Amino acid sequence: ILAVCMFAAVVTVKSQGTMSPTVIDKNVSTLLSKMTLEEKVGQMTQISVEAFLKTANGVPVEPHVFDEEKLRDAFRKYKIGSLLNVGGNAQTLALWRTRIETIQKLALQERLKIPVLYGIDAIRGNNYTLDAVLFPQQIAQAASFNVVMAARAAEVAAYETRAAFIPWNFSPVLDLGRHPAWPRIWETYGEDPYLVKEMGNAVIRGYEGNSAIIDRYHVASCLKHYMGYSMPLSGHDRTPAWIPERELREYFLPQFASAINQGARTVMVNSGEINGVPVHANKHILTDILKGELGFEGFAVSDWQDIQYLYQRHKVAADNKEAVMIAINAGIDMSMVPTDFTFCDDLIALVKEGKVSMSRIDDAVGRILKVKYETGLFDQPVGDAKDYPLFNSREHNRLNYELAAECITLLKNDDHLLPLKKGTKILVAGPSATSMSALNGGWARNWQGTNSNETEKGKNNILKAISSVFGPENVVYSAGATFTQAAGIKDAVSKAPSADVIVLCIGEDSYTETPGNIDGLTISASQIELAKALAATGKPVVYVLTEGRPRVISEIEPLSKAVLQTYLLGNEGGNVVADVLAGVINPSGKLPYTYPRYTNSLTNYYHKYTESLEFDPAAGYNPQWEFGHGLSYTSFAYSDLKIKSSELRVGSPLTISVTVKNTGKVVGRETALLYVSDLVASITPEVKRLRGFQKVELKPGEARELTFRITSEELSFINNDLRRVTEPGAFRLSIGGLHAPFNFH
Ligand code: BGC
Repeated sequence: ILAVCMFAAVVTVKSQGTMSPTVIDKNVSTLLSKMTLEEKVGQMTQISVEAFLKTANGVPVEPHVFDEEKLRDAFRKYKIGSLLNVGGNAQTLALWRTRIETIQKLALQERLKIPVLYGIDAIRGNNYTLDAVLFPQQIAQAASFNVVMAARAAEVAAYETRAAFIPWNFSPVLDLGRHPAWPRIWETYGEDPYLVKEMGNAVIRGYEGNSAIIDRYHVASCLKHYMGYSMPLSGHDRTPAWIPERELREYFLPQFASAINQGARTVMVNSGEINGVPVHANKHILTDILKGELGFEGFAVSDWQDIQYLYQRHKVAADNKEAVMIAINAGIDMSMVPTDFTFCDDLIALVKEGKVSMSRIDDAVGRILKVKYETGLFDQPVGDAKDYPLFNSREHNRLNYELAAECITLLKNDDHLLPLKKGTKILVAGPSATSMSALNGGWARNWQGTNSNETEKGKNNILKAISSVFGPENVVYSAGATFTQAAGIKDAVSKAPSADVIVLCIGEDSYTETPGNIDGLTISASQIELAKALAATGKPVVYVLTEGRPRVISEIEPLSKAVLQTYLLGNEGGNVVADVLAGVINPSGKLPYTYPRYTNSLTNYYHKYTESLEFDPAAGYNPQWEFGHGLSYTSFAYSDLKIKSSELRVGSPLTISVTVKNTGKVVGRETALLYVSDLVASITPEVKRLRGFQKVELKPGEARELTFRITSEELSFINNDLRRVTEPGAFRLSIGGLHAPFNFH
């Protein structure tokens, strides 16, 4: 109900599509029949724009414009069909428009006048365009458990991306965030497959819109990274994972299947290897499962340089040509090359030698052309600036604040320390207090997110926001430490006596992908030292954890009175932290992952009975905070759990109702999480699995009955024969601490 109210559309969606799906299919085959081999291979080639930037002494000149001759050559000689990325730092909206106009102008001068499909990582807003709204990162959005607001943010992200005339977004990430050290955890929707699936579906609707043809306010989405990327054994990015096919199908595939079923246009392939086979070389995963079983009709793009890496890194090919042959025959449709043309030369030769069939090429090119038609590029290769008056508008920024307010998660609040009263004297400390890059994380205005402090100067970091909410006269600041050095501790400690409360902002600085690899999950030593020194002053300490993954804080957690998890909240993060401290926002986020207590305890809430505390009090699942944990400034009570019938049968779902009441003194939002446990199964069952959630807003004293439905399909699992089955027997559902048994026949 809450969600529906908030989905007041800001963007007016006008349909521009003039082509029906049947016309598109016809157009694709007509075009295909006119194309030479070289033209077809060009469509399968994606080059990074950095290859075409004007340079002086080898360095791109600012602002980044193209060397048109180089670009023209790429179209003329190699007939390239796709470009990507920004090539350095974010550019202005005006420059992006000029860039795309230049690209399409040159592409359309070629024989068949096929527009370029430009792709970009606009992963939480059009981050590579200056001033575009930077929303919370995916991990934070997952904590909101608000699929409608996430869809709305995706729609705004699509609008602002399309405002730069870019029609294709390399988002969302549907990888399961199950290894807390993996540096891409923050790009995921967390550890639960059901939550990932629900968030993913909502966001894809926001990106692509509802019509068969993607209109000028929407973009084609790209499901990443198909599949099994997120569980590298070492926790390091792009290192081997060992995932049996049963587990792949149980945990990693369903969210992709569901998104594809919903019509998602493209997928990007996992850069890593599973069970000794690089996914870019895995025909079973790319062709049999993706295009066969799932019936995927869009196209699969490689990840960055991953065809070359088949020989350079993975060593399953002797040279580039063999790598191209393996990858294309496995089912890759487009190669993110990304900076040279060896792919084109090798693929043309392979077809001429009969090592890659013409039908494989036609299949790939047909899929790519279809997406070009479906994104409206043939009708309108460049947009019209007049169509996008809401870029970086007040409405879009307001939505950003409202979404971030739903994400922030209160993990601890002893003695109701928070919210702080007006006039409280606050010492703000810690390295993330003044850092926009710590709030935004990676893929801000550059890949590593290192330039946010410069580019987002106009936004409130945490310190600025706290000063403005509590009054500068009530706030003192001392960083106390950096993320790596503890040099300022004395200064911070010396400022504590004048404060009533210390707000300590710690966590991680920004990083993306492999540069974010770590060998230990514990928060950095300098921050531990600072936390200890500040606790020793006797003042109550609130931790504000700005981090992309749950860094272990068990040593210093007992020294805090309250803990706020911000994840990577984006540009409104500072304001939201300050408003939570002041009680203007009542926090309602819930952890989308298990917060580990120990660096080696990587068990998630989907654990097995043998990993439970009841089974083994010494070694069971005992995290710092559980998946789904999140406090509020009010309290909620659950009652009247009712199941319509105690039997569930195929085709007749179980209806469940429960009443949630706000038993505290302020308005609050609560997410009811419905879990199902299979009590006996032929594969050791998980202790519980999320199968439904609903978020509601309740006034003090207000109660509401929530209704859920569970189908037999939702009780199913993949058995040892790799078949999805629902085994008859006893189940238990739990919601808000209440339990009810039922049977499936
Ligand atoms: C990442 C992808 C991204 C691509 C293009 C790769 O390094 O793994 O997620 O979409 O680069 O920037």
